[in-house]
Amino acid sequence: MSLDLVSTLPYDSITSLVRKAAYGLVTTCILGTAVYAGYRVALPEKHLIKRHRHPELNDQIEKVLDSLKISDEQLIHMMHILEEEMNAGLSPVTHKKASVKMFPTYVRNIPNGTEVGQVLALDLGGTNFRVLLIDLHGNSKIELTSKIFVIPQSTMIGDGKHLFRHLAECLEEFMQKENILNSGTCYPLGFTFSFPCQQESLASARLTAWTKGFSCSGVVNEDVVKLLQEAINEKGINAKCVSLVNDTVGTLMACAYKDPSTAIGLILGTGTNACYIESLDRVGTWNGDYNEPKQVIINTEWGAFGDNGRLKHLRTKYDEEIDISSINPGKQIFEKMISGMYMGEIVRLIILDLLQHELLFLGHRDTYSDYKAALYNRGGFYTKFVSTVETDEGIKFSNTRRVLEDIGIQNPTYDDCAIVQHICRQVSKRAARLAGAGLAVLINRIGKSNITAGVDGSLYRFHPRFKRNMERCMETLVNKDIKFKLTLSDDGSGKGAAMVACVAERIFEHDKETADYETLTKSLIN
Ligand code: ADP
Ligand code: MG
Repeated sequence: MSLDLVSTLPYDSITSLVRKAAYGLVTTCILGTAVYAGYRVALPEKHLIKRHRHPELNDQIEKVLDSLKISDEQLIHMMHILEEEMNAGLSPVTHKKASVKMFPTYVRNIPNGTEVGQVLALDLGGTNFRVLLIDLHGNSKIELTSKIFVIPQSTMIGDGKHLFRHLAECLEEFMQKENILNSGTCYPLGFTFSFPCQQESLASARLTAWTKGFSCSGVVNEDVVKLLQEAINEKGINAKCVSLVNDTVGTLMACAYKDPSTAIGLILGTGTNACYIESLDRVGTWNGDYNEPKQVIINTEWGAFGDNGRLKHLRTKYDEEIDISSINPGKQIFEKMISGMYMGEIVRLIILDLLQHELLFLGHRDTYSDYKAALYNRGGFYTKFVSTVETDEGIKFSNTRRVLEDIGIQNPTYDDCAIVQHICRQVSKRAARLAGAGLAVLINRIGKSNITAGVDGSLYRFHPRFKRNMERCMETLVNKDIKFKLTLSDDGSGKGAAMVACVAERIFEHDKETADYETLTKSLIN
């Protein structure tokens, strides 16, 4: 048939047809190559692993990583469990035994941007200790100076008195530098203390348990404001601690100073935790008054979600290993699957597992017997490396190579880099989806049409795709009639503490004779 056609067509038509066909073919090839190249660059994690390796090895790697995958259906199921656990924490009957404690914070309302004053704040979060001097200008503007101090490991696990003395020394050094140490003014101070506390008023809170690597003696069940004030007085520093807040509350307050639709404060740093504005009629444990506004900020302490075994089905052997070798086994199960203190270590354990099964670093049999290398030591793969590795786009892997060399793998291959990046992506994506599902529970529960969550913490701030991964899963999990927004709250945990302190101090000064802290907290209302 085609021959017949050729024989019946004039020669010119044949050459033009052939030319058209050739053009078509070349164009298709070029387009095809471009599309393929684009696809490769856009989706390196799937392709690169499969490029050189034997397909069975890829399948085995995927099998190992499968345990980290949590489907939307599993997340929705987890959301139901979290909501049940939250209700248990809010009920006076079940509170004592509940894993998610849902502590009322005694902060009843958010700032409105008109607060003014100069206030000190201390922010003890887990990794960093910051001292801040904050100037609230009253028009939603804030000026801030701050300094970060290190808490030595020995102080984190030593005598509690020594810890608070250290905090007071840092405060003294900062005030000296800012020329406010001997100014004759007694500065109000807000304390951001980000460990689970049973709060008794705005300026008194008993530590219920240490988390995030701290275990100082003589502090659990004690009033931490009192311990701090004693250390400040001992040094003769002119500062009075007028309020204690959790970092989640500080973050919510700082974000609300600029955006009144803020109803949630979320931390993704050393640990993870969230607070939100709850109606008083749902807080069975509330022992204050029921005047307007009938709401209170609840510090969920959701890091402990799963401590009663209810997350067992979602945990991997790596999560179990992290937990067993931590200083608080069985505690902070949700936190250990998500936060900065543990993420790098999860990646390290997976790398070691793949290595043991001869699925990774195949050309490095001699170097990987160097047991002094960071790869073989607990904490040797920092969480900031996860961010660095995931910053690599495309096929060069210059950051990943640097990280691998840092942990003792010299001249890693292309495959090694692609696999390690794939591991990092799976671990951080799981964390983002778990945190996103938790946030979706709070958003759906608040139920307003517009909700902003203020977020603080280095994991959220620096990881290149944590926010995107959270938002992606939340689009499915948040009720369709609610618009939500995640806002990075710069220094939120410290600034917010200063706001609470500022208002508390003003009222205290105004009503010195009669004010007790409970009336102060009520007055924070507006
Ligand atoms: P804190 O929780 O003490 O207030 P941060 O919010 O700074 O302090 O969080 C510190 C945690 O953030 C550390 O555990 C660290 O692992 C993690 N982190 C620090 N830098 C990065 C980064 N670039 N990417 C991801 N995580 C990071
Ligand atoms: Mg912090």
